Amino acid sequence: MSSDRKVRVRIAPSPTGPLHIGTARTALFNWLFARANGGDFILRIEDTDEERSDKKFEEDIEKGLKWLGLNWDEFYRQSERDSIYEEYLGKLLASQKAYYCFCTKDELEEMRQTMLTQGLAPKYSGKCRSTSTEEASARVGKGDPHVIRLKVPEVKIEFKDLIRGSIEFDGALIGDIIIARDGGAPLYNFVVTIDDVLSEITHVIRGEDHISNTPKQIFIMQALDFKIPKFAHLPMILNPNKSKMSKRSDSVSLDYYIKRGYTKEAMINFLAFMGWHPKDDREIMDVDEIIKEFDLGRVQKGGAIFSDEKLDWFNNSHLKKMDNKELLKIAENFVPKSWKLNSAMIDAVKGRINHLDELKESLSFYFKLPDYEPATLRWQDMNFGEVELNLNKMKDVVNEAENDIKKKDIENKILEEIGEGSKGEMLWPLRIALSGQENSPSPFEIIEALGKKESLKRINLALQKLEVKETYET
Ligand code: GLU
Repeated sequence: MSSDRKVRVRIAPSPTGPLHIGTARTALFNWLFARANGGDFILRIEDTDEERSDKKFEEDIEKGLKWLGLNWDEFYRQSERDSIYEEYLGKLLASQKAYYCFCTKDELEEMRQTMLTQGLAPKYSGKCRSTSTEEASARVGKGDPHVIRLKVPEVKIEFKDLIRGSIEFDGALIGDIIIARDGGAPLYNFVVTIDDVLSEITHVIRGEDHISNTPKQIFIMQALDFKIPKFAHLPMILNPNKSKMSKRSDSVSLDYYIKRGYTKEAMINFLAFMGWHPKDDREIMDVDEIIKEFDLGRVQKGGAIFSDEKLDWFNNSHLKKMDNKELLKIAENFVPKSWKLNSAMIDAVKGRINHLDELKESLSFYFKLPDYEPATLRWQDMNFGEVELNLNKMKDVVNEAENDIKKKDIENKILEEIGEGSKGEMLWPLRIALSGQENSPSPFEIIEALGKKESLKRINLALQKLEVKETYET
């Protein structure tokens, strides 16, 4: 770290919608940077837009960040800081670095058109710069509609982006930006600047869509003699077809993914890899490993692709790795309350699903045996007599097993019974009897999950089904 100041970063979401995946990614990168550098991570709710801000979105954002485990060290809400913004607006007006502008909409449009016809990029002409302080104060006093503009110097400004390298903007092309509306309501670029500087943010890490705001904020900082933080602009998140993810109508909120049953570990891993990867070719990483490796220098410049398949792969891999007890606790939220899940059920299913909302379907046969045709019990060209014989053999093995059957033990016993015989002819009827369906875990896994009593009940039921069939086919 070149600076000896303690690292302080922030995430500054506007509560105008639920926590967006892109905001979650930005929050994660800030949090990782803070944790990797022994710094502070700050949450600042940017609720200056009264009309669009909503408490319920603020709650959703906080809930989502907590779910991800992105705990913050300090919290600010912009709507509680009006007097601070007012004070700094006053300073800028008093030092004549900002001024009141009374131009009407029509006048502004006229200026725009004139510039366009002259082949110039439109910007504010600076007309009200020359209004004297006395006249401006008198007009404000009279209630004339106005805004406050910053005097943006016509100079080039350069900043070194920690991801994108040196970036240059020309103040002459930006023009005098509006920093407060009529009635003194300060605008985005102004409040962000004040908050970032007063909360001693050392690194502003945010999406690339904010790059054009950065020179404006630097001009405001310069006008107030503020120390300028470092900047890092993260690559945009793109759909696999390279369109902007922000434009996707559904599935952009973190909550959507939480409800589908993606785990926090997979989500962190996936979001971290959206624009970053470690030095080696590791992909499945837990959060502590990521913190250890995290470095802004390894963030890519090009867009980061959001792929649902990749997310599924991350989730499947993390589910497989997860401790059964821990997974059991989360899994309970995805199945009916009356289902009593056990570790064996979870163990048998965890490698087979991509997200936990598939659990209900995958586990339902444990709780309600699906109805099936006796013919399903037949493996290839077995006849019903052979099926019955084999199921009876399996029943005896299960019957003789201890009450607390473990899959390895029952597997050994059953395989011993099969000996040189056909596995399919013995295991298929058993598996159908136990699960009532063709796709299911191995009979050994099912027996452990169901327990001895229920397993025997199901085998008996299959035998009854066979009895009902009066004539055996050959
Ligand atoms: N409130 C802004 C947003 O939600 C973030 C501003 C910033 O990071 O500077 O996009």
